[in-house]
Amino acid sequence: MEPVDKIEVKIGNIVEEKLDAIVNAANTSLLGGGGVDGAIHRAAGPKLLEECRLLNGCKTGEAKITKGYNLLSKYVIHTPGPVWKGGNNNEDNLLKACYKNCLYLADKKGIRSIAFPSISTGVYGFPIERACKIAVKTVLAFLYGNMDIEKVVFLCFNKRTYEIYRKLIDVKNIGNNK
Ligand code: ADP
Repeated sequence: MEPVDKIEVKIGNIVEEKLDAIVNAANTSLLGGGGVDGAIHRAAGPKLLEECRLLNGCKTGEAKITKGYNLLSKYVIHTPGPVWKGGNNNEDNLLKACYKNCLYLADKKGIRSIAFPSISTGVYGFPIERACKIAVKTVLAFLYGNMDIEKVVFLCFNKRTYEIYRKLIDVKNIGNNK
């Protein structure tokens, strides 16, 4: 299977996904927040926060894993994305590191299917097209070097994000005889 065929783009709510893992666009405290972080903690229940308290936070661009508790997915991989500060503060590399480190950790845990929200593009203000390009490029590069992960979902909360991902994935498909 070509790496690009392992990627799925979907509109929806990430907490409704039933996969091996979902990714949380967390903050460095790992103690919960708004947006997708709040939704994941609400759906997972209070035990998620209990486990997060034991992790001593997480640096921007790095990733830590917990169980999923009441979620349909077995694990949550928490990664704090960079706050957008104009683009000259290592934001691109840090966002890339988020995707890379989540996949690396997932693979280490034997996870085969995983959904990502659009990290940093909510409250953290990362420009959406730029973020989607980094996400697709980084995930594809990882999948080229990894035969074990079977499915990566880009879970979009709105249609605009969906369309941006769709376009990027379709371009990657050109030349694939489809
Ligand atoms: P960040 O602080 O990393 O910017 P946010 O949670 O504010 O994180 O936003 C990240 C992305 O997640 C945004 O594109 C937002 O629209 C999206 N989002 C918010 N809630 C959900 C959800 N329940 N499922 C999937 N995506 C979500």
